[in-house]
Amino acid sequence: MSEVAAKLRELGVSGVLIQAAEQGQITELACQMEKCFCPEELGGRSYFEPVTDGLSDWMPTVEHSPIAKRDGGHRVVGNVLLAHRLCNRVGYSIEADRPYGKDIATVERAREEAIRRQGEEPQP
Ligand SMILES: [Zn+2]
Repeated sequence: MSEVAAKLRELGVSGVLIQAAEQGQITELACQMEKCFCPEELGGRSYFEPVTDGLSDWMPTVEHSPIAKRDGGHRVVGNVLLAHRLCNRVGYSIEADRPYGKDIATVERAREEAIRRQGEEPQP
């Protein structure tokens, strides 16, 4: 099994993303959206939270690409990218010309939270 597939499994991912990783279409655990919104302070593109019922903003999701879901793109290896749930949502909003200010506010809150946590960690 590929290392990325193993890491995705650890996060609770199953299905097509695992297949895509095993077939070498996803070669690193990183958000593959053109624009990733995950704050660097949190870990940026390579930061992922486990898949839970709580549906975290930073859990791995399937982005249909190059053929979008609304254009009939299927959830199959060759048409899927690994994307943060939030980045996936914002990407869709941008293409659909929908407002996404609320998501940007969420990103800023995540950034502030990450900075605050860093400040609390004991200094070496
Ligand atoms: Zn992202």
